Amino acid sequence: MTQTAQVELTDARRAYRLLAAWWEGNARDLPWRFGRTTPWGILVSEVMSQQTQMSRVVPYWVEWMRAWPTPEALAAASGAEVITAWGRLGYPRRALRLQACAKTVVEEYGGKLPQDYETLLTLPGVGDYTASAVVSFAYGKRIAVIDTNIRRVLGRVFAGKESRGGAASADERTLAQRALPEDDAESVVWNQSVMELGATVCAAKSPACEECPLNGICAFLAAGRPGLGERRTRPRQRFKGTDRQVRGLILAALRELPPGGSLPISRLDSLWPDQAQLGACLASLDEDGLVEIHQGGSVSLPE
Ligand code: SF4
Repeated sequence: MTQTAQVELTDARRAYRLLAAWWEGNARDLPWRFGRTTPWGILVSEVMSQQTQMSRVVPYWVEWMRAWPTPEALAAASGAEVITAWGRLGYPRRALRLQACAKTVVEEYGGKLPQDYETLLTLPGVGDYTASAVVSFAYGKRIAVIDTNIRRVLGRVFAGKESRGGAASADERTLAQRALPEDDAESVVWNQSVMELGATVCAAKSPACEECPLNGICAFLAAGRPGLGERRTRPRQRFKGTDRQVRGLILAALRELPPGGSLPISRLDSLWPDQAQLGACLASLDEDGLVEIHQGGSVSLPE
């Protein structure tokens, strides 16, 4: 940690008070917030929000939790139901991992989501971010939650510089620990409000500093926003023509089938002109467990 960042951490209390007041009036009313769901519901929201904007997640989360409110319910669903309900959220392997997580919670923890970080980390599909988010947001315990939004905001406010892409650095982890309020309840508000500020105000490319509650203490703003967005700016990922698009087309066709239905593989041919790419994508979906290819040449969502 640099000397500069240490000195500026004396502003952490002030930053907390400013952010807590801002959170009161500005937090988005997402259905998994403010004590309206279970720890399991919070885990589901976190898995769905990885790589997908929260606003897009809301209708999927609502429907998902209506269908499968508990790990037991999700564990008992078929693979086809789970993949169909995941719809167009993208990266559908997350759906199967979430179901694998539900099965582990049922089989090893009696259907109750573990509360401690280390045990959460052992669950399928749960990494550092998701485990910390559940400890903080679902169980209200003090833990530093580190995602790209939090890294960006803390790096700007306290160290006056942009966060690098890639994995969190040791300095960023130290900064997140040092800035975290000691009190459990305050630490939760801190994590949520820093993350929310990063998602809605302190954006990577064009932060709205004029309406930011931290604009009086932000080292990055005071320094003239040096190198704004440079390190985080990545070329927009191409989607058209990618295997992701082709895999999505195949899954969309299979979701249209009635429960238990299958399609002759030849019926997929019209989905995509490049038949080699189509075949490779079908094979990769099979490898990922997202489809089942049957003897006789038909394909379906998994049982
Ligand atoms: S003042 Fe600007 S750069 Fe600093 S935290 Fe607020 S939005 Fe981000």
